[in-house]
Amino acid sequence: MATNLLLLPGDGIGPEVMAQVERIIDWFNQNGADFVTETDLVGGCAYDAHGQAVSDATIDKALAADAVLLGAVGGEKWANVAYDVRPEAGLLRLRKDLQLFANLRPAVCFDQLADASSLKRELVEGLDILIVRELTGGVYFGEPRGITDLGNGQQRGVNTQVYETYEIERVSRVAFELAKLRDGRLMSVEKHNVMESGVLWKQVVTKVHAEEYPDVKLEHMLADNCAMQLVRTPKQFDVMVTDNLFGDILSDIAAMLTGSLGMLPSASLGAEVDGKIPAMYEPVHGSAPDIAGKGLANPIATILSFGMALKYSFKMQDEAKLLEDAIQNVLASGIRTGDIARGDEAICSTSDMGDAILAEMNKLK
Ligand code: NAD
Repeated sequence: MATNLLLLPGDGIGPEVMAQVERIIDWFNQNGADFVTETDLVGGCAYDAHGQAVSDATIDKALAADAVLLGAVGGEKWANVAYDVRPEAGLLRLRKDLQLFANLRPAVCFDQLADASSLKRELVEGLDILIVRELTGGVYFGEPRGITDLGNGQQRGVNTQVYETYEIERVSRVAFELAKLRDGRLMSVEKHNVMESGVLWKQVVTKVHAEEYPDVKLEHMLADNCAMQLVRTPKQFDVMVTDNLFGDILSDIAAMLTGSLGMLPSASLGAEVDGKIPAMYEPVHGSAPDIAGKGLANPIATILSFGMALKYSFKMQDEAKLLEDAIQNVLASGIRTGDIARGDEAICSTSDMGDAILAEMNKLK
């Protein structure tokens, strides 16, 4: 049966990097897969077309698709549009309407790029960790929130960190399932020493572990210690699960261990309904207006995001491995876009990188 992919290239370098993913999808179709793609608008380009950062019709297509692949949104052009229709609002609405509560951020250090890390090579070489961040709850959404006037010349800014049992259960189940597919280890991260939401988080994860995943090795760590450990000995971790705020920060720390933004994929998953898990795959980087339209963008983050779709939405592990191996080989041969080039290394274009990856895939198939 055909697999339906909704492609939302977005703004800036989004269309440039997505064009390379389309070539990879075509390659898989020529080699036995059956992907059907449809392309639509999100972000600033959707605002220009419809006055909204994502239209209802696009949301319906996203809900019907087997997976959504997004490029990037945003840019100076839309800096002054109303807050609720700014490009990023399109992303937030997709996450909300698809109920994508689990954000998967791998931090993998390709050996060939280990010297691009801010840490010493021996600390990051072979690094392969996966952070599962809760994406739809916690302090970014909790009520009450806002800024109130205290009437004495002072104001009070309030945000509320709040989690309910079901929110912790469902994201921890995603993390336990991923741990089973990998090294069988899970690190749960919170701050139960100073936050009641952390006490509940730890209790719920411990209960889910005991009742459903006794074979996975579960450990707990305080978020501040985790931040230190990530830059001290990052290879001690395998899968980590944490809330929205800590996940936001810790996944950015982990990401930078591996070098360039142009190399970082992500996935956001929802709850299974009728055998289907809503999913959106996107690079971590933004629309990079400084290099947009110049053919300089590194397409690997978006290509690896498609690789995550192969793994997590379509259970095509062999195909995902072939794609990752092809990228490894390309990096080993010294082909570099500007963001991952060092010193006087030659720089290739976005489409050159696509050519090189496709050539490697032909060799490996
Ligand atoms: P950015 O990620 O777009 O760019 C940061 C730096 O990294 C830039 O120098 C850029 O050239 C470089 N870079 C990013 N991706 C690259 C790639 N694939 N290849 C080579 N170099 C790359 O972040 P920013 O500059 O802070 O934001 C630019 C716009 O993107 C803003 O409008 C912001 O709101 C938006 N944004 C969108 C997303 C998203 O769509 N998910 C995420 C972050 C930022």
